[in-house]
Amino acid sequence: MHTFAIDAAPRHYPPSWYAASAQLLPPFTPLQGDIQTDVCVIGGGYTGLSTALHLRKKGYDVVVLDAERVGWGASGRDGGHVGTGQRADQTAIEKWVGLEAAKGLWQLSLEAVQRVCDLIDEYQIDCELGSGNLHFAAKPSHAGGLQDELEHLETVYGYEQLSYVSADKISELSSARGFHGALLDNGCHGVSRSLYCHDPDGIEFEVMWEVPVELLEDHEPENVPLDFEADRARFGADTPGNGAR
Ligand SMILES: Cc1cc2nc3c(=O)[nH]c(=O)nc-3n(C[C@H](O)[C@H](O)[C@H](O)COP(=O)(O)OP(=O)(O)OC[C@H]3O[C@@H](n4cnc5c(N)ncnc54)[C@H](O)[C@@H]3O)c2cc1C
Repeated sequence: MHTFAIDAAPRHYPPSWYAASAQLLPPFTPLQGDIQTDVCVIGGGYTGLSTALHLRKKGYDVVVLDAERVGWGASGRDGGHVGTGQRADQTAIEKWVGLEAAKGLWQLSLEAVQRVCDLIDEYQIDCELGSGNLHFAAKPSHAGGLQDELEHLETVYGYEQLSYVSADKISELSSARGFHGALLDNGCHGVSRSLYCHDPDGIEFEVMWEVPVELLEDHEPENVPLDFEADRARFGADTPGNGAR
């Protein structure tokens, strides 16, 4: 049996500009009693909500349990950049995994950006979706690196959404000052992520909140069964006095 963090105290969103400006949903119902479901997702951030949404679309009954509020974690506090690429430059990734795998990861990132835009469109999420991200050169030496990156992504990846912005043109696009150049990526987007995460109107799955979860397992992790139907009863997420199976 594994026990995950247990914290029974219900909380409000931490004070922030995002929490103050987002159209927050009323709290969801706490879990009461024992319920049966095909899939119980623990954690209502982007990962959990996306998992729940896509499983729901495939026809599974899904319950999301969160110990706090939907979007209470990183998803309710992040910068809302829907960016291309991974957490490292493609050239670094190529050194780690080789060019073909790096191209696969790049393509995955493009599809992820598109997926976010598609979901916003499909559910008409009011999240102030915008286009274009600027990557700034904080030092003069960074400017050449940005230009190299542009050339690399164009020639090796065929990516044509980038343009270089010289230092004297930055003020036409941004209020940022003191930078030495920038790379404009028109394939990126920005959302007011509070709204994106907090406003799942029309998404038909059940969300319960303020639920500290104790995860119960009766199997070894490497034996996680893939057959939902045969093994659905083996998993349980227990909270004090309540449970989802
Ligand atoms: C300051 C900051 C800025 C960022 N900016 C960006 C950005 O601009 N673009 C970008 O793509 N990414 C950004 N990120 C990263 C991004 O926010 C995270 O990768 C993403 O939100 C992770 O989502 P998640 O659902 O995995 O986790 P979380 O959003 O943290 O969700 C986890 C949820 O699980 C719940 N939980 C935890 N334990 C339990 C338990 N035992 N029982 C029940 N519920 C539980 C929590 O309450 C929480 O709601 C940023 C992150 C931070 C911190």
